[in-house]
Formats: sequence, structure tokens, C-alpha cells
Amino acid sequence: MRTLLLKLSESKRLAPFMMHNGVSRRVARRFVAGETLEDAVEAARALNRAGRSVSLDWLGENVSDETGARRFADGYVAMFDRIAREKLDANVSLKLTQLGLDLSEDLCQELLERIVEHATAQGNFVRVDMEGSAYTQRTINITKRARAKYKGVGTVMQSYLYRTANDIRDLLALGCRLRLCKGAYKEPPEVAFPEKHDVDANYVTLMKLILPSGIYHGIASHDPAMIDATKQFVGENKIGLDQFEFQMLYGIRTDLQEQLVGQGYRLRIYIPFGTDWFPYFMRRLAERPANLMFFLRNLLPRSN
Ligand SMILES: Cc1cc2nc3c(=O)[nH]c(=O)nc-3n(C[C@H](O)[C@H](O)[C@H](O)COP(=O)(O)OP(=O)(O)OC[C@H]3O[C@@H](n4cnc5c(N)ncnc54)[C@H](O)[C@@H]3O)c2cc1C
Repeated sequence: MRTLLLKLSESKRLAPFMMHNGVSRRVARRFVAGETLEDAVEAARALNRAGRSVSLDWLGENVSDETGARRFADGYVAMFDRIAREKLDANVSLKLTQLGLDLSEDLCQELLERIVEHATAQGNFVRVDMEGSAYTQRTINITKRARAKYKGVGTVMQSYLYRTANDIRDLLALGCRLRLCKGAYKEPPEVAFPEKHDVDANYVTLMKLILPSGIYHGIASHDPAMIDATKQFVGENKIGLDQFEFQMLYGIRTDLQEQLVGQGYRLRIYIPFGTDWFPYFMRRLAERPANLMFFLRNLLPRSN
């Protein structure tokens, strides 16, 4: 089912249907703050009041024309100005295919550096999300080149990929801030662990590799086992609670979010917004059968 949903998340035919369907729009709102920056800012204010930092993500991926890529870059620059004006405790997450990576690596590099230069000047930070494995090396290369010029950029490492420990060593040597997650895309067994227990075991190994580095990293997971392993490791190794942050997605495990903040851990919530929510929504359905069942139950006409 996970494989099927991840395949459907790339469907250009299903996307318009889902995005105009009342039920899917309603269910998607559980995971997406809304369609406008205003919606995201409102969600950010509420989460900041609740003691959580945020990362704003303007949804969009695999942009196929230069005008579209430049429009996203302009929007991200303006977003940093809005964050500063509103004094939000917020940074930004973006995807390189949103900045034209499918069109030209040079264009993507130029647009990313423009955004990162602006963010760095404001003392803020750009997180380059990690997409499917076809993009891994290019994402690392582009992030490294931007990081060589400006401090305010880091990327994401996925524990389901076999290559990740090597990538982490490479990026730590440059002082790069990392977000560690399990990985959300459909990957073949040639590049990624097919079994969840191997992905989880590698997550714990990689968490132990990044946290002692003295660089500020994000531990992104809703999995209590990953969170407990992290708490235990930082306790045993006297890593301060201000030396790293947990990260979770908007609308997921809010009980656990509250618990972590109550226990004094730093927590950042990833807030997606925008009209292009279909692939993001499908990845969230794929992660948890209960989400799919909830969606399907809502699709069926109600009988009383
Ligand atoms: C802040 C953040 C940023 C991310 N950025 C990226 C990225 O750049 N690239 C990338 O490939 N992936 C990214 N991901 C997604 C990540 O790779 C996983 O797909 C996702 O977090 C689910 O993995 P998990 O660690 O929560 O553990 P899982 O083992 O998948 O889930 C553990 C438990 O968490 C809860 N849970 C997990 N997902 C859901 C859900 N969708 N709905 C409801 N409950 C859920 C359930 O209780 C589940 O039992 C990000 C995740 C987070 C939190």
C-alpha cells in the first residue's frame, strides 16, 4: 500500500482531481496549514506561543519552467522579510526541484544562493529538504557550494539510504547543520533498506554520529523509539538540551509535541502551506495506514 500511494503521489492525472475534491481538501488540512502565507504565519504564531519553533515550507516540487522557479525564489526571499517583520521564531524549508533543479543545476544554484544570502544576512537559516535518491548527490553538491559562501544553510539526511553515513561525514567536515529523518520516498532495495527495523537501527546509529559534532542538528521523527534513544544518548553524553532540536510535522503527534516541550526539549514544527499540497499529502497517507482509512471513510457517502 505504501508503494502504491507513493507511486500515486507522482501522478499528474490524480493531482487535479484530489486538489479540487472537497473531502481530500478537508482531510489535507490536517497536515497542511492552508493555501496562503497568511495561513502559515497564523499557524506559526500559535505554535510559537506554545513554545515551539517552526520551519515554513511553501509546497511545490518538480517545477518545470524557469518563471515558476524564479517565482518561488522571490517568494522565499519575501518570506524571510515577513518572518523578520513579525518576529517569528521561524526558518524556512524548501526543495531544490522547486527552484528548477529538473531544468538546470546552474539556475537552481543561483536561486538557492540568492535565498541563502538573504537569510544569512538576517541571521536566519534555509533548510534544503532531501527528495528522492535521484536528487541526493545534486542536493548535497548544491548545498555544499552554497554553504561555502554563506553560513545559513543546511540539508537533510535520510536513514533509509545505505550511503547516508558517508554523506554525513562529508557534510560534518564542512560544519553543515543537518536534519536527520527516516526518508519519505519510494526507493529500490539497491539504494535503501527495505525493512523498517533496518531503517530504524540506522537512524539511531546516525543520530549518535551527528549529535556529538558540536553543530546544531535536528532530530526529525514522530517515532517514540527514535525520540527515547535520542534522549538517552544526550543524557549519557552530557549534550545540552540547547545543542539540538527535535522536529515534527504540522498536525502529527501533537500529544508527543506537547510532552517534549513540557520536558524542556527544543522542538521545531515543519509547517507546509500552499496550493500544491497533493504529493506532500500522499506521502503522509503512505506513512500511516490509519491516515488512509480516515481519508477513505470520509470519501464514502454517510449513511445514517
Ligand atoms: C520535520 C520533518 C522534516 C522532514 N523532512 C523530510 C525530508 O526532507 N525528506 C524526506 O525524505 N523526509 C522528510 N521527512 C519525513 C520522514 O522522512 C518520515 O517519512 C516521516 O517523518 C515518518 O517517519 P517517522 O520518523 O515519524 O517514523 P515512522 O516509523 O514512520 O512513524 C512512527 C510513528 O509516528 C507517527 N507518524 C508517522 N508519520 C505519521 C503520519 N503521516 N501521520 C500520523 N502519524 C504519523 C505514528 O504514530 C507512527 O507510528 C521529514 C519529517 C519531519 C518530522
